[in-house]
Amino acid sequence: MEGIGNDTPAIGIDLGTTYSCVAVCKHDRIEIVPNDQGKRTTPSYVPFVDAERLIGDGAKNQASMNPANTIFDAKRLIGRRFSDSKVQQDIKLWPFKVIQGASDTPKVVVTYKGQEKEFLAEEISSLILGKMKEIAEVYLGKVVKNAVITVPAYFNDSQRQATKDAGTISGLNVIRMINEPTAAAIAYGLDNKSNIVGKINVLIFDLGGGTFDICILTIDKGRVFEVKAVAGDIHLGGEDFDNRMVDHCVLEFKRKWNKDLSGNQRALGRLRFACEKAKRILSCTTHTSVELDCLHEGIDFSMKFTRAKFEDLNMGSFNKCIETLETCLSDAKMEKSCVDQVILVGCSTRIPKVQHILQEYFDGKKLCESLNPDEAVAYGAGVLASSLSGCGDKSVQDVVLLDVTSLSLGIDLKGNVFDVVIPRNTPIPTSNAKSYVTTEDNQSVIGINVYQGERSRSTDNHLLGKFSISGIPPAPKGVSSVMVCFEIDANSILTVSASIISTGKIEKLIISNENGRLSNEEIEKMVTDAEKYRAEDQEFKKKADACNALEDCLYKVQKKIKVYNIKKSVDPENLKEIEKAIAKTTKWLKENQAAPFSELHLMKVHLKFVCKPLL
Ligand code: ADP
Ligand code: MG
Repeated sequence: MEGIGNDTPAIGIDLGTTYSCVAVCKHDRIEIVPNDQGKRTTPSYVPFVDAERLIGDGAKNQASMNPANTIFDAKRLIGRRFSDSKVQQDIKLWPFKVIQGASDTPKVVVTYKGQEKEFLAEEISSLILGKMKEIAEVYLGKVVKNAVITVPAYFNDSQRQATKDAGTISGLNVIRMINEPTAAAIAYGLDNKSNIVGKINVLIFDLGGGTFDICILTIDKGRVFEVKAVAGDIHLGGEDFDNRMVDHCVLEFKRKWNKDLSGNQRALGRLRFACEKAKRILSCTTHTSVELDCLHEGIDFSMKFTRAKFEDLNMGSFNKCIETLETCLSDAKMEKSCVDQVILVGCSTRIPKVQHILQEYFDGKKLCESLNPDEAVAYGAGVLASSLSGCGDKSVQDVVLLDVTSLSLGIDLKGNVFDVVIPRNTPIPTSNAKSYVTTEDNQSVIGINVYQGERSRSTDNHLLGKFSISGIPPAPKGVSSVMVCFEIDANSILTVSASIISTGKIEKLIISNENGRLSNEEIEKMVTDAEKYRAEDQEFKKKADACNALEDCLYKVQKKIKVYNIKKSVDPENLKEIEKAIAKTTKWLKENQAAPFSELHLMKVHLKFVCKPLL
């Protein structure tokens, strides 16, 4: 971690599956920053169109026109394997192409400037992070380097590391990664500081677009946040509800017209857009309809959707939320009656049925809706960023965060047995060591496979990395021993080391560069690429401005000429020159739409020079 000075602002970014949000500290207060459209959240969409990459609102708006080259859901890919069954399921639904890259990493394929290009999820996320950085910079009027980025509590180490890499690629120094529900709890704690006397137990229920997170924590005097347990599902959220609605419409279309539209990407994209809209409407009314002209093979589609139907389609997911909630309570060793506040975060908590079953589970307890569900996470991240960088007032400076590991960590023993070294929901930073003995006579090497997860068979868990330690002195089996030490830092990043007890030899595994993750060289290359694309985008803007300026100048002289013509007060020789210049520039503009900035600028200077007598 780099040191940070007081004058370098640090920002908090909620990098959401569907929407992202950024918070900064200004005049000692944490503020959510609106984007260039005046909106406080920005769609996590990256389009690849030939002219310019309009990340965010622009991208989402043109998504159904350019489905194959508009990338979203990068968060569902980041840090995962291509062969992962969840990734395979998603690929079937995405209108863009995803291929298997080296070491089984997924890559999205787009056509950009006439060429096929491949991008890692880290690169896509880095573009979104870069956009959020830019939004903050415009608002603050200074360059931003440091950021706290949030991740779902249930993200494993490789997903966290990949998100951190995305930050680096976007030009940010990631000073801390924090779990989304924890960030929301910080927002709640600060908001209710004066009401919180002593300790209270809060439960954060965060159901977003792609992920579901639960966190139980104790807040002491609105200042100390002690996480008791986290749980979640990194593959459950609003998009799944949309998809189920889409599937239902596809079936309905098939039933009514006997035509299968599931191969028509554009139709599916339009349906998804319409279903998402209908879903939101169903949160406040009980009936709506999905209507799309010329959806498939010229057929118009129109279907009524009731709230009851929507609930019926998604009841399985809603119940899954409650199951996860029960696990979390039992991990926190807490009865549901001990929960003082149930706080709703994530926009999918606006669904009445979700609120209803949650309230029912807590025996009719009133749920807390005082936090803005789309902003709370970024707000909390902004608080932590300010606190770490020494900005903000005392209430921000005072925040103390005690987090836990979200998944168990351990190693593989003989017979595919997973041996836990650090159990899930252990407070971090933490470390633990265990010693293991050789399993064969004269064994000189021990291989150490590090896994993360809750299953008892190692291979059912997530492999974080492998390494081995050699040079064990010859001895009968069970005599020589190796000490394995797990250390987790405040960012939940893990270092595993192994040492031979008799000789003191040590081997280390820093998970960050292993196992298909990005090497420093790869990150550097991506940083350069990102800068190149940024430069291209800037060049495009400069060019568009120059083109506008030239058109504007043309328009002005043409208007003036009309006036002068009437008054006949201009020298006919000059007038001829001017008219020639206007005609020439108009023709040139028509034929040279793609001209570089310098030429456009030169044309304007020339036109202005000739038209001087007029202007
Ligand atoms: P994330 O943090 O995962 O990006 P958000 O918390 O921003 O997610 O929630 C986005 C999800 O919430 C989307 O799936 C969106 O369709 C859904 N959503 C937004 N408003 C409503 C609403 N009024 N009713 C139901 N779902 C909603
Ligand atoms: Mg979210």
